[in-house]
Parts: sequence; C-alpha cells; structure tokens
Amino acid sequence: MGLDVHPLVEGRPLVLGGVEIPYTHGLAGHSDADALSHAIGDALLGAIGAGDLGSLFPDTDPRYQGISSLLLLQECGRRVREAGFEIQYIDAVIVAQQPRLRPYFPQMAESLSKSLEISTERIHIKATSPEGLGFLGRGEGILAQAVCLVIRSGGFWEWASGK
Ligand code: MG
Repeated sequence: MGLDVHPLVEGRPLVLGGVEIPYTHGLAGHSDADALSHAIGDALLGAIGAGDLGSLFPDTDPRYQGISSLLLLQECGRRVREAGFEIQYIDAVIVAQQPRLRPYFPQMAESLSKSLEISTERIHIKATSPEGLGFLGRGEGILAQAVCLVIRSGGFWEWASGK
C-alpha cells in the first residue's frame, strides 16, 4: 500500500497519474508532485519489500527536481520485474475537493500503464470528495492512496511448490 499528499498552490501545473489537469492550482513538491503516481510507486516498492520512493529518489537530489513522476514509476516497475514479480492489479483512490477528476481517469490509466508496462485493465482509479472537511476539504492539498497486488513471475503455484 502507498499513500501520498501534496499541497495545492498557485502557479504549478496539476499533474495526477501523469496527466496534466486544467485547474487554478497545482501540486507543490520537488518532482512534479504527482501524488497518485507517488502513492502507486510506494505501493509497488512496499509489495516487493524495497523501501519507499523517498529513499529511492531523495528530494535533496537535484536530478529529481521537476522530474515527471512517470519516470520514477517506470523505475519502480523495473524493480518489481527485477525482483521476479509481475504487477497483477493496482487500485487507487484520490481524495480531492476540486477539480472533478473522473473525466481524466482513462487518460491516467493509459499513462500509468505505459510507464509500468502493464495493461490498463490492471489499473483502477477512483476519486472521492473529502466533503469539505479538513485541509483536503479546504482545497489546500490532494491525497492519493493505492494498493498493489504483485505475483511471482511464472505463477504463484509454481513458486509455492518450489518448481
Ligand atoms: Mg510525493
């Protein structure tokens, strides 16, 4: 599982799942601050016991300044395969008061699937409203959470039976 939150500020593009969404505010952070991609990346790294995005791509490293999080995600996908796993399914939810995100889900799934080299059918994106509550409800930030299921390459039963 992975969770991420970034503040919404003026003068930044709003990027979620690698898609730029027209809005008055954007997410602030060292990279493009794509909270959805970060939550998915952390879920992938967690699933294979490989730490987290922050330790893999430190925000003190100038190489990652303004970088597209799809590139970070690509590296997470590569590590999953290198560890001998395949991504079976990703489920994610974005918590945002504004803007409406549903129309962008197909585009997000498309860009995420390309960077992870998996089919869009293995990615499910949802959004929910914080109903005006707290910092998310006041539109001060956007939160994303993701769960990822990975399986041993070659099939679980082959692995479990030691063949
Ligand atoms: Mg982040």
